[in-house]
Amino acid sequence: MPDSQKESRRILLESCYFILVDDVLYHRRKANSERTRNMSEFQLVIPKQFISQILKIAHHSPLGGHSGIQNTLDSIRERYNARMGKIISEYVQSCHECQSRKVSNLNTKAKIVAYPTPSEPFQVWQMDIFGTLVSSNNADTYVFTAVDAFSNFLFAVPLRNNDAISVSQAIFNFFCNFGVCSTVISDQGS
Ligand SMILES: [Zn+2]
Repeated sequence: MPDSQKESRRILLESCYFILVDDVLYHRRKANSERTRNMSEFQLVIPKQFISQILKIAHHSPLGGHSGIQNTLDSIRERYNARMGKIISEYVQSCHECQSRKVSNLNTKAKIVAYPTPSEPFQVWQMDIFGTLVSSNNADTYVFTAVDAFSNFLFAVPLRNNDAISVSQAIFNFFCNFGVCSTVISDQGS
């Protein structure tokens, strides 16, 4: 027993929930909620040094399927007893596969806005980049397009790359041909 009376009392109170079977320690569960009622009555008590191994099996195995914090916790508690709520949430939140695969709940969609109505040609242009396409003889794989919102006139130039320098050069040449418009509409793609 530890020196602290408080600790000793806690251990004595909790000891009735533990049982030794063939020198292996098990924890006897109190089924106290609807969610845990169907789980087995005995849980294997896990020594600290095996917790990370159990976590890995529960989260990474095909049956674990990289489920969230609560589901991982439930599947571990079904068979094992260990104080690991905080460890599990840290583990799941820092899992590389989860971070790269799970869909973000951040809203990335732009709001729908009313476009200005042009009153003459070459006032409002809708610009975009089209590609990647099968390479032409000149090794061009992208198309820079600009559609005049008044007349639907389409302007298109082939581009070798869609990097910032190539695209800004295409826009510069475009303005040299048609003059500077009042509005450019673009989806602001990367
Ligand atoms: Zn994961």
